[in-house]
Amino acid sequence: MQRLVPDVPDFPEPGIVFKDITPLLADADGFAAVVDALATAGRDEAGETVVDVVVGMESRGFIVGAPVALALGTGFVPVRKAGKLPRETHAVTYDLEYGSATLEIHRDAVRPGQRVLLVDDVLATGGTAAATVELVRLCGGTTHAVAVLMELGFLDGRAALDGLPLTTLMTV
Ligand code: AMP
Repeated sequence: MQRLVPDVPDFPEPGIVFKDITPLLADADGFAAVVDALATAGRDEAGETVVDVVVGMESRGFIVGAPVALALGTGFVPVRKAGKLPRETHAVTYDLEYGSATLEIHRDAVRPGQRVLLVDDVLATGGTAAATVELVRLCGGTTHAVAVLMELGFLDGRAALDGLPLTTLMTV
């Protein structure tokens, strides 16, 4: 599977090795396998869905998270960059591997008590995932687990997740 996620050195800036998932998305079998594998993070051992909603982070978390939500039979909630969501939001500012950013969620997108599966493509420093966990908490929901296609182990992003279950299909 890793051959479908090529490294692109020095993108988007010098020193960053960008993991390009677009060849994987373009491969029907690979994409289906990834969606299946990530969806297991939202099921119990009997195969029952144990989350109420899937939350995906802009923008590759949308591409991967939306089909995971359909596979689990749940709805999908986008977490977006600042200024993109039209109604009242919660906002959290966080550090990226490169730069910093603010993420937002519609205040009513996750209802109090709902259990959430977070889905994204790459876990790097963990800042994006940790900010999204906080957005879910601000809505009154709880994060059940985090599922990513790839973890950049050398950045130790899982340390930012405070022991939340992390499903990762590839670790580099
Ligand atoms: P982080 O907040 O540092 O865990 O960064 C995770 C977010 O940034 C994810 O949404 C990724 O899509 C993106 N990202 C960070 N580093 C990389 C990388 N080396 N290759 C591809 N995407 C990355």
